[in-house]
Formats: sequence, C-alpha cells, structure tokens
Amino acid sequence: MDQTQGKARVEPVQLSRDSRIHFRCGKDLPCYTQCCRGLDLVLTPYDIIRLKKRVGLPSDEFLAIYTKPELLFQTDLPVPTLRLLDDPEQSCPFVREEGCLVYTDRPTACRYYPVGAATMRRQYADQSEEWFFLVKEPHCKGHDCPDEWSIQEWRDDQGAKEYDQINAPWYDLVVRKRSIPPNVKFSEKAKAMFYMASYNLDHFRRFVFESSFLEVFPLPPEKAEEVRRDDVALLRLGCEWLKGVMFRHGDMQVGEEHARRRMEKRGKAK
Ligand code: SF4
Ligand code: SF4
Repeated sequence: MDQTQGKARVEPVQLSRDSRIHFRCGKDLPCYTQCCRGLDLVLTPYDIIRLKKRVGLPSDEFLAIYTKPELLFQTDLPVPTLRLLDDPEQSCPFVREEGCLVYTDRPTACRYYPVGAATMRRQYADQSEEWFFLVKEPHCKGHDCPDEWSIQEWRDDQGAKEYDQINAPWYDLVVRKRSIPPNVKFSEKAKAMFYMASYNLDHFRRFVFESSFLEVFPLPPEKAEEVRRDDVALLRLGCEWLKGVMFRHGDMQVGEEHARRRMEKRGKAK
C-alpha cells in the first residue's frame, strides 16, 4: 500500500455506478468516528434543510452557528462548510463517542463516504456526466472488510438517492458555473443571491413573499402555498430563479418583454 501517512489517498480510478468496492463501516471497528474529525465538509442545500430541522433552528441561525462560508472549488460560488469544534481533533459538532447525533439526517458527503462523486458538463453538451472515486484514509479500516457493494448499492443503502434527487437542480447550477470560463465572474450581489436561495431558505422565503418577487414571477396560488410551507419546493423555486437570473436559462428570466410590461404597469398605476 502506498498510503501517505495521515493523508487521504484518492484512488486514481474513475468509477461508475456499477463499479464494485469492498467496504464496511460499524461500531465494532477500531476507527469508529475517526472519520468525523479533522474533515473538510461542504454542505449541500438539502443537507441544510435536514440539519436545521433536526436541531430546530431557522436557516440563518443554523448557518451562523454550525457552518462557515467558503468558495466552492473551481466555481467561485459561496457554500457553507461544517464548522468544526475547537478541540485538539477538530471534531464535527455532531460526533459523540457512541456515534453521530444526527445520523438519520447526516449530510450527503457523510452518506457517500468513502465514495466521492464528481460531475462535469462538456462544452456544448446538454447533459452532465457523473463519475465516482474512492477515498482511502490511513485510519479507515472499512476498506479491509470483505463486504462488497456496487457504488449504486452503497449509495442506495446510505439513503443518498433522496439527497441527490432533491439537490439535482442545484448541482446543475454548479456544473453550469464550472463549464463557463473561469474569468467570467459573478458580482458579489449575484453570489449573495446564490447563497440565500440555496442555503438561507427562511430568508429566501421572506424575500419571495415580502418583496416584489411574486409581481415579477407570479406563481399559481397552489404553488405559492406549497412554497410557503415546504422547504424543498422553495429550494426548487430558488434554483429555477437562479438559473434565470444567473445563467439566462429556463422560465424565470427577466427579459426585455417583461421589463416593458413592468414599465407599462407602473405607468398605469400612476
Ligand atoms: S470504517 Fe471508515 S467510515 Fe467507518 S467509522 Fe471507521 S473511519 Fe469512519
Ligand atoms: S454529521 Fe455525523 S457522520 Fe457526518 S461527520 Fe458529523 S458526526 Fe460524522
């Protein structure tokens, strides 16, 4: 084994959903919870929805207490990462000796581990491509276990499918940003909109219902009601809105025609 002491080794093999791995994780292993310390964990929008509900906090408080913002690699987009404890091991705030306090609501990356997932879109392609890789950390004894899985089976067993489905429109935004030249930068205002509609959903809900948002993007009453009470529906709306305002794609673009109609409406109101 050429593992570098103390450092994760990413297997240089591109894996598909059908690729097979040997792995098992459990309380009986001597490394139990070691992977929950000293980690760098980017949170997805659905991770925040689940975790804020689990700890009973609104999104802005959850983000302030449990996360710190970083720029997502190769995108320049702001994302929250898990804020680790200030202890010698830099532990996840949810880890205890007996295991994960929020196990049934644990983030996407914890569900995939030790599998990493990546997505890319080739220039001019409509669909993005996904692939997987294996992360081997010296302390993780799970790789020595004979239990065999396909990546798909591992993902399903860990409940990652629901997370991937709900996060899919957001992943699409990230892939869109990655596929445009890196010198195309978004304004700070656009990045703040991205962060709000992706992660600070309670704030975004107030923005939708307490600003002129619904005048610009009217919603049928039943959809508005769904967005008012359901975070997942609100996230879907947020991603569609971001696709329109940041990438000029989809049904929620503010075009010239719309601007003309708004001007007319304002004129009539005077
Ligand atoms: S086997 Fe790996 S993933 Fe499981 S507890 Fe040990 S270090 Fe963590
Ligand atoms: S959320 Fe749970 S599984 Fe994930 S790092 Fe923290 S303690 Fe470990």
